Amino acid sequence: MRKDSTKLMAQRLEKIDKNLIWHPFTQMKDYSSLPSLIIEEGKGSYIKDTHGRWYLDGISSLWVNVHGHRRKEIDQAIIQQVRKISHSTLLGISNVPAIELAEQLVKIAPRGLSKVFYSDNGSTAVEVALKMAFQFWKQSSKRNKKKKFISLRNGYHGDTIGSVSVGGIDLFHGIYKPLLFQTLKVESPYCYRCSLGQTYPSCGIECLNLLEETMRRHHAEVAGFILEPIVQGAGGMIVFPKGYLKEARSLCTRYQVLMICDEVATGFGRTGKMFACEHEKVSPDFMALSKGITGGYLPLAATLTTEEIYEAFLGEVQDLRTFYHGHSFTGNPLACNAALASLEIFKKEKVLDTLQPKIRFLSKELKKFYQIPAVGEIRQKGLMVGIELVADWKRKTPFPVEARIGHKVVLEARKRGVIIRPLGDVMVLMPPLSITQKELERLTQVVFDSIESVLS
Ligand code: PMP
Repeated sequence: MRKDSTKLMAQRLEKIDKNLIWHPFTQMKDYSSLPSLIIEEGKGSYIKDTHGRWYLDGISSLWVNVHGHRRKEIDQAIIQQVRKISHSTLLGISNVPAIELAEQLVKIAPRGLSKVFYSDNGSTAVEVALKMAFQFWKQSSKRNKKKKFISLRNGYHGDTIGSVSVGGIDLFHGIYKPLLFQTLKVESPYCYRCSLGQTYPSCGIECLNLLEETMRRHHAEVAGFILEPIVQGAGGMIVFPKGYLKEARSLCTRYQVLMICDEVATGFGRTGKMFACEHEKVSPDFMALSKGITGGYLPLAATLTTEEIYEAFLGEVQDLRTFYHGHSFTGNPLACNAALASLEIFKKEKVLDTLQPKIRFLSKELKKFYQIPAVGEIRQKGLMVGIELVADWKRKTPFPVEARIGHKVVLEARKRGVIIRPLGDVMVLMPPLSITQKELERLTQVVFDSIESVLS
């Protein structure tokens, strides 16, 4: 009887979902023809659908969840805040959790980042950095012409027009070209498919010359250089060669170009350190944060910057140096209190320390994937993993798009109780930091079996 009502409810929800919801980054013709997966509950590394089936959350509910679902401390922090106030604005006034969180963020951020500007998603965190960088130069001197941005191919910074303008993935961004502002695009350090035909490390990271050349020629008109530090996520989990980020920082300083590090995906422990910038001891001029900031519970973002940038915006009201930007839910108290609870867990449970053996275990498990002939390259930094599947291993030939290999692997994994989402034919694994070794073993085994099953 109970089973029947569960089934009826699931069917009803599926019907309404397919009738009413337009899903993001989803071909809806395709979506309508497949059974829906509708999540109603979660616990730890698992999420449960409306049929009562539990799945291992192999992508942290799109790269956001950090300490697992339904963490008592974060749930409590939200409930406590609800009992006080759920929202009040930051425009001209303040709120308690936003202040306390700013204090904590500045403490853990790379040196020099001492000002916190809140917004509510990764794309807006990037927009804020771009607008601030542009306005900084405008207000620093009347004579400079610094209004362009340098960005990397394969870069991804969100879906609003400004963040798409600095994006570098043709598949997602190509159609909007007529709407975008012009940027200077530089090849990314994608060693597996090096645009210079070189091999790391003997190349000496020659692609840095491309970046330097662009800065040398255009620095007088360049306001900033935006990049995802260490790992280009949506571009295919592309891991930078060691030294690239540090040298990029030096070039920015040398050519007076502001460095914008988009840590939306890499931040909050994902790469094995709190922020990816720490791997090469880099302090950018802007750091964009979102996703994991609240432990992946609620939408929140922050753009951190330096005293120097901040001071260029100070003046009399009539000077018009104000930063005219702010969203309705900027610095939302519920989200900020969730973020405080998440940072407290990082501290109390020494999350970054306990993560290290898991990262090593994952590296060991991933080596097995090279037994599969279609595995071209395995890229890993911390708990961020991309397994690139190719039709021809020797020539690195991709599978035809219509073969939909990545998509098929995802469906196979789902049958086996694991949720993943590919980037084309790059299989992405990005579990919560709280995943156990046993769960990691299951995750890799299921993905291994799913790839084999699709390609056999
Ligand atoms: N920057 C990076 C590096 C991202 O990975 C993403 C989202 N995947 C964004 C920005 C955009 O974040 P949001 O989807 O919250 O707007």
